[in-house]
Amino acid sequence: MNSKNEDCIFCNIVRKEIPAREVLRDEHVVAFHDLNPQAPTHVLVVPNLHAQNLSEFIAKASAAMKARLFAAAAEVGKRFERERKGFRVVINEGADGGQTVGHLHLHVLAGRHMQWPPG
Ligand code: AMP
Ligand code: ZN
Repeated sequence: MNSKNEDCIFCNIVRKEIPAREVLRDEHVVAFHDLNPQAPTHVLVVPNLHAQNLSEFIAKASAAMKARLFAAAAEVGKRFERERKGFRVVINEGADGGQTVGHLHLHVLAGRHMQWPPG
């Protein structure tokens, strides 16, 4: 799957050009631990295709990749949740959404009770 953005940190992880603590990898997605975890488990799930955000991903990814991204987030959540107590999946988009890395990623947070509403 093409991921050609040389300056993109998550494309570099997809291509194994920089290290990450990976928990899952296949032809559509890579999942790895966040460097600055906000919960006992904080994993990022990224598509192997470079897309700036959710909106761009929906416009350009295949149906198979779209399905796999969400299935992978659920798999990671189920793997790391405490005794079926659940987990949270978050997507930030743009400045108001709090996005800091311009390659779509799903945050999977688990291992503690989450507050609502988010900040
Ligand atoms: P967001 O603010 O939604 O764009 O989330 C970006 C996330 O990427 C943050 O939680 C960062 O801690 C995380 N992050 C940035 N660089 C890396 C990296 N090289 N490896 C793992 N996580 C990273
Ligand atoms: Zn990228």
